Amino acid sequence: MNSLIPFNRPFIAGKELHYIAQAVTLGNISGDGEFARRCTSIMEERFGIKKILLTPSCTASLELSAMLLNIGPGDEVIMPAYTFVSTANAFVRAGAKPVFVDIRPDTLNLDARLVEQAITEKTKAIVPVHYAGVSCEMDLILTLAEKYDLKVIEDAAQGVNAQYNQKYLGSLGQLGCYSFHETKNFICGEGGALCLNSEELIDRAHIIRDKGTNRQAFFQGQVDKYTWCDIGSSFVLSEINCAFLYAQLEMFDEINQRRKEIFDFYYENLLALENNQQLRLPCVPEDCLSNHHMFYILLPNKTLRDGLLNHLKKLQIHAVFHFVPLHSAPMGKTWDYKHGDLPVTEQAADCLLRLPFYYEITTEEQQRVVDEIQQFLLENTAVSQTEVLRARNALQ
Ligand SMILES: *Cc1c(COP(=O)(O)O)cnc(C)c1O
Repeated sequence: MNSLIPFNRPFIAGKELHYIAQAVTLGNISGDGEFARRCTSIMEERFGIKKILLTPSCTASLELSAMLLNIGPGDEVIMPAYTFVSTANAFVRAGAKPVFVDIRPDTLNLDARLVEQAITEKTKAIVPVHYAGVSCEMDLILTLAEKYDLKVIEDAAQGVNAQYNQKYLGSLGQLGCYSFHETKNFICGEGGALCLNSEELIDRAHIIRDKGTNRQAFFQGQVDKYTWCDIGSSFVLSEINCAFLYAQLEMFDEINQRRKEIFDFYYENLLALENNQQLRLPCVPEDCLSNHHMFYILLPNKTLRDGLLNHLKKLQIHAVFHFVPLHSAPMGKTWDYKHGDLPVTEQAADCLLRLPFYYEITTEEQQRVVDEIQQFLLENTAVSQTEVLRARNALQ
């Protein structure tokens, strides 16, 4: 029996425990200490972002965004349904209505061409989600946002260190949200960041993130005591997590390079199957530089996808499907969406399979995944051809 190939295995860069020990020794383990400073300055410099605030998760960053932009009852927020629940929940819990727009068949990102017709008097913001670390068509989205005076909040949970037209994701909208959850490229267990690209939002973001107090201004000596100033919550990332994260961010280039190699191996070795029209590989448009967050394949239909998923599972290879589209989930249905409303989204959800992908996956393991996909499609194409013949004979 072959050994198990998991879907994900959190990557440990090596110095995490060393830096955590340092944080403990330094004596400040709550947040916004030395390691938070190091992490944010690496990212602000590299990504060209005015201000980055570390948060406990991308979910928290999205919630902070909703509070910061005063999004609430009566407002509509445009987003894809092919995304993680937090993209919608952050705005729904504030009282706003999610307006789901279909995705592009090539990148599986929000279809910018369908956004304009979804804009109403009530629309307050657009939330593009950069799926798999490949950017949405931001030029078009930003142009529409300007034309209709809307805010853009990038859900760049999967897009840390990826680019669009030479600009880093998270630096394009008014706000950008990152995730450092253990399933993402750069991790600290649970963690996230809010990217602030408008100077005028920075002071209030500090206050909301720190329980609605001006503690930040107090620490900077701008006020002599801190007090309750605004709405807020507890959205500061612990220094212990920051210390862990710093060990990962020091290895930006190595992690990126390794993920590219893994991606390229799958791509090159599955290309023959795509050329044969037996499956479809990920598409990265010319103006996008991916961070290789994941590798997915699209099968011709759900039956083949589910069949392949089970075939791989029996062989101890853990491939997984992805999002249940939000409009067809029990909560999403409360806004009167129904199956068939977003055909491209539904097709992608039915046919997509994500392959095992982690820093330490070996070439032998990747080869095994490729071989088993080939084997399965060979057998199942043969079966379907037999069925075609049988059906034809039955008709004669
Ligand atoms: C992972 C993910 C999130 C949530 O990130 P957390 O840090 O776990 O809160 C949000 N949106 C998308 C698109 C994601 O992939």
